[in-house]
Amino acid sequence: MEKIEHIGIAVKNLEESNVLFASLFGKKHYKIEEVASEGVKTSFFKSGPNKIELLEATNPNSPIAKFIEKKGEGIHHIAFAVKDINSEIKRLQQEGFTVLNETPKKGADNKLVAFLHPKTTNGVLIELCQEIE
Ligand code: ZN
Repeated sequence: MEKIEHIGIAVKNLEESNVLFASLFGKKHYKIEEVASEGVKTSFFKSGPNKIELLEATNPNSPIAKFIEKKGEGIHHIAFAVKDINSEIKRLQQEGFTVLNETPKKGADNKLVAFLHPKTTNGVLIELCQEIE
C-alpha cells in the first residue's frame, strides 16, 4: 500500500455538507459524482495534498444509509492508493483479511476499488484504490 488516497466521510445532506466543508477548507469541492451501483453521491475536496470524499446515500439500502443509521455521520472509510489492486487483494487475503469484493469495482474519481471488512481491521473500513489508466 502507498499513501492515504482519501478519507471518506458519511453525511446526511451532501448540499449542506458541501457548504460546511467549503468554509472549513476555504475552497469549494472540485467534483461531484454519483456512483449508482453503490447508492451514493459523492463530492471531493482538496486540502493541500489531502483529499476528502463526502458520501450521501441516494437510497435507503445504500451502505451509507445503513452506516448513518447505526453510527451517525462521521468518518466512514480510509482509502489507500495501491499500484496493483489485484495482487494487493491476494496478498491481504493471504494475511487473513476479509476482502468484501474480490473483484475490484469501479468507484468514484476514476478508481478501481475494493474494501476490507472492518471486523478484520479493528473496526476501520479500508478501501484500496487503484487509478484507472
Ligand atoms: Zn472512498
